[in-house]
Parts: sequence; structure tokens; C-alpha cells
Amino acid sequence: MTRVLVVEDEPPLVRALAINLKARAYEVDTAPDGITALQLAAAYPPDVVLLDLGLPDMDGIEVIKRLRGWSRVPILVVSARATSDEKIEALDVGADDYITKPFSMAELLARLRAASRRTSSVLPRTEEPVVIRTREFSVDLLAKKARREGRDIRLTPTEWHLLEVLIRNRGRLVSQRQLLQEVWGSTYHTRTNYLRVYMAQLRRKLEADPSRPRHLITAPGMGYRFET
Ligand code: CA
Repeated sequence: MTRVLVVEDEPPLVRALAINLKARAYEVDTAPDGITALQLAAAYPPDVVLLDLGLPDMDGIEVIKRLRGWSRVPILVVSARATSDEKIEALDVGADDYITKPFSMAELLARLRAASRRTSSVLPRTEEPVVIRTREFSVDLLAKKARREGRDIRLTPTEWHLLEVLIRNRGRLVSQRQLLQEVWGSTYHTRTNYLRVYMAQLRRKLEADPSRPRHLITAPGMGYRFET
């Protein structure tokens, strides 16, 4: 099922979009402002974002910039602003497509289908050999070898899986839910305590100072990020 995050502050339009999308078997989350949108996108990663540029708390351009700090989700901008400067700015900061209000539902749905088709190809989840070197340790994902200060570090299969998801998304926030679903399965998506325990183990094994991690970073309440 395709999950759409609708970011829009006009209740009648939100209702119309939600009804039409749900009727076509989309899963729909709605956010009336930018902050809610960013929190929802981290907690329930969408497959595509429909984003109004005129929001009450922040400019939609700012929402795109912040989302692009950690996510490659396709973003379809929906806006009453028709000038080409604004369109270009939205595309420049990372939007994928743009539709101007008023629009027909048929056109919106066609653009949405096109945008969500891109989802599966954007995350670099390929099997290319990945060797990551930091000042303290190195990790070879293909050979499943971790070394720190010249010594092999033993990691459990679960620790490997968690580390691998973070490394393959390095520099980007991976939400708690994404990690739990990926490593433990979808029925475990609320067990954030698992993440705390396993992240603490990984830090003890890999970080020079586990209490001040430099590579396995926590974004409180949101998720984790790997930095080299
Ligand atoms: Ca608006």
C-alpha cells in the first residue's frame, strides 16, 4: 500500500484529498503545518508527500529543505503560487514535481502515481561492497568484518543488521519505526527499547567514548543517524 503524507492547512481540501486517496487504496496521513509534517514523516515514513507551500508555521520550501536533510521521499508540491520563480525554487531545493491550484483530482492522481513510482528506485539499497572507515573503526558490510584499533570486533546478527541499515543510509536520519520494521519486523514497530539496548551495545563495541558517540548518533524521539 502506498502511504501518502498530505501537508495542507485548508480543512475542506484536506478532506477532499483524503476521501479521494483512500478511495484509491492509498494510506493517508495528514498534517496541517510544517512541524507536524516533519514529525509524521519521521514517525511514519511516507512513500510520497503532497506538500502545500503556504503553511501557517513555516514556508513549504523550508519543509522541503528539512525533509531533504534525511529523506529522499518523492515530494509533489501543491500550491496556489503560480510564478515560475517559486516553482523553480521548490524544484531546486528538492521537490520532484509541482501542481498549481486549482487542479483536477484526475491530474493530481496521475502526478501522484508518477511520483510514487520513483520511490523504490531512490534509496541506494544496492548490494555494492561498502567499506566504511572512521577514525576509530572500519566496517566492511560485504565481508561482515568490523575492526577497531587493529582488532576484529564481534557483532551479533542483529547488531550487524542494525548497523548495516544505518550505514546504507549514512548521513540521513532513519526513524525508530523504520529501523524496528527493517530489523525486527513490522509487528515490533513500537519497541523503541530494543533500539536503545542494541544501539548502546554497538556504541560500546565501536565508539571511542560510548557516552559521547561520534558516529552512532541519536536524534531524540525521532531516530538514529550514522556519521563517518
Ligand atoms: Ca495553504
